[in-house]
Amino acid sequence: MAEPLHPLLQRQLRRAGLGVDGLADRPDGWSALLQHVHRAYAEHDQERYLLERSQDLASEETARLYAALRVERDQLEGRVLDRTTALQLSEARLSSLLSLSADWVWEQDASLLFTYVSDGIRQASGIDPATLIGQRRQPAEGNADEGPGWAEFQACIEARRAFRDFTYRHPAPGEGLRYICISGEPVFTEAGEFTGYRGVGRDVTQATLAEQMVQELARFDSLTGLPNRNMFLGELDRAMARSRRHGDPFAVCFIDLDRFKTINDTLGHAAGDLLLKTMAERLRLTVRGSDMVARLGGDEFVTLLEHCGEMADLTQVAEKVLLAMAEPISVQGCSFLVTGSVGIALYPRDGDDAAMLLKHADAAMYLAKERGKNNVQFYTAELAQQAAQAFEIESALRLALARGELVLHYQPRVNVQSGTLQGMEALLRWAHPTRGMVPPGDFIPLAEERGLIVAIGRWVMNEACRQIRAWRAEGCAVPRVAINLSARQFADTSLNKDLRETLRRHEVQPQDIEVELTESVLMAEPEHANEVLRHLSAMGVHIAIDDFGTGYSSLSYLKRFPADTVKIDRTFIQGLPGDADDTAITQAVIAMAHSLGLNVVAEGVETAAQLQALQALGCNEAQGFLIGRPMSAAAIGLRLQAG
Ligand code: C2E
Ligand code: MG
Ligand code: MG
Repeated sequence: MAEPLHPLLQRQLRRAGLGVDGLADRPDGWSALLQHVHRAYAEHDQERYLLERSQDLASEETARLYAALRVERDQLEGRVLDRTTALQLSEARLSSLLSLSADWVWEQDASLLFTYVSDGIRQASGIDPATLIGQRRQPAEGNADEGPGWAEFQACIEARRAFRDFTYRHPAPGEGLRYICISGEPVFTEAGEFTGYRGVGRDVTQATLAEQMVQELARFDSLTGLPNRNMFLGELDRAMARSRRHGDPFAVCFIDLDRFKTINDTLGHAAGDLLLKTMAERLRLTVRGSDMVARLGGDEFVTLLEHCGEMADLTQVAEKVLLAMAEPISVQGCSFLVTGSVGIALYPRDGDDAAMLLKHADAAMYLAKERGKNNVQFYTAELAQQAAQAFEIESALRLALARGELVLHYQPRVNVQSGTLQGMEALLRWAHPTRGMVPPGDFIPLAEERGLIVAIGRWVMNEACRQIRAWRAEGCAVPRVAINLSARQFADTSLNKDLRETLRRHEVQPQDIEVELTESVLMAEPEHANEVLRHLSAMGVHIAIDDFGTGYSSLSYLKRFPADTVKIDRTFIQGLPGDADDTAITQAVIAMAHSLGLNVVAEGVETAAQLQALQALGCNEAQGFLIGRPMSAAAIGLRLQAG
């Protein structure tokens, strides 16, 4: 039996009024046609089914994919949100840190044009960051001359290297020049392509200016603004190197103001400062711009004259300097004349190192002072000879000390009224094998200058104590012995200790010793002097002020020192009794000394008339040729035994 016709075909046949049953048995071609249509309908159904099925499948897949995508999107969104929050936090942190610090951040593109500069630069340097965007880093004029710094920095940038703490000067409108310190590093893409620099900046203007000031102070004299000794010595070294290369000699002029100390002491420091400043300015204007004028200290100036050619030219320059200095100067409403003395030494003739040149120019300057001030002297063979002689004496003196050629002579001091022996002054002599007895004036200044005096002074101390003990061993009554102390000895910190040990060694009492000091020794360092004297005085050592009247001659300051005795200088005694001034001065000194409870000794008493005058004036003691010349220990020993 044939399968039933497709339902849709059956419905269409019925709608057309044709019965379905029996159709298949009709003989005409209907049956075949109907079978054909039926198959077509069935095939169509099959196709439609397949299509619909595949459509269903596709939409299910889409829904699944969509759901997965949604999950993924949600996750991504969450991550982005997290990241954004973190980024915002970190940005806030950075900007808050940046606003707290005085630094700023900058970025440049591959052409080194600024793409970003944080606002910090405005607060720190007064520079509007907007004005920098699209610009290159522009140094102020002159940076290129500031040594290798800028060039090195450029080389570092060219090499795309990182840099730290490079400082350059940046012109800031309305703010002047700012010193800016930057650190930075190059930025590269992952592929290694250079995209620019980024880094931080800092304004270091204040610190840099402060540092510059310190450096200035180290090289320049703060009072006059002239180069100081340090800078001068550096320049002197360079001048010597130049001269060695080119064979040109040059000159060092040592300039000292005459009587500066007097002016400073009488008019005060402010006036002294003004004087120095004026002189510095005059010196600067007198020499060529290329010649250096420096202040070595105090009233000592020095100039370095290169390309000076002949001696005559040098003399001319030096005389010009003297003329300029001698112009009247007005201080505190008064007009003064201050002159200078100039000493010149030549390189390489007069010395081949800085110390030697300065020393010789200084020696020549002293000669100028000796020759009446306000003049110029060159370092000469004669001066060289004097220096050589001094050296010779120094060596001989060292030997003398070792060989025992030094001796002490003793000069008696007596009571003016009774003539009884009150004391003796130990005076040093050098028993020179060929020159005979050399007086102390011929070698003590040199010993003082060369520092030998400390050793010599120790010898004197020891010898005096040894002698006191020896005399006593011979049964003599020995009065107090005075020894002279010079400035250098007095400044020596071991003086007290040395003296105490020497006394102990020879079993001599401090009361048996008197030390003599001049006013200038005391006034060189009054604080120190006072301390040393208080120690000595506390020990029981007597203290005498020697050569009184030749220095400050102020009795009132004597109150500050624990002195026992004042020795009036020989020059005042010489005028007694004829010279009214000398008499008045001697009288005044005696009266004032007595009012302070001091013992007064007259030095250099040579005549009976002088002694009489001193008796009349109430002087306590006298020392001098009239009473007795300085004599050997043996000679005075006889006198002690007799007395
Ligand atoms: P001074 O301490 O003022 O010593 C007095 C000087 O005057 C001595 O000279 C003495 O010989 C001299 N004189 C004494 N009476 C007369 C006189 O009637 N007429 C004249 N015209 N002169 C008289 P001297 O011995 O040549 O000593 C000179 C200076 O050398 C001393 O002056 C003293 O400052 C120093 N001196 C001497 N011995 C030493 C010493 O051992 N150490 C130190 N540091 N200095 C000493
Ligand atoms: Mg003396
Ligand atoms: Mg004296």
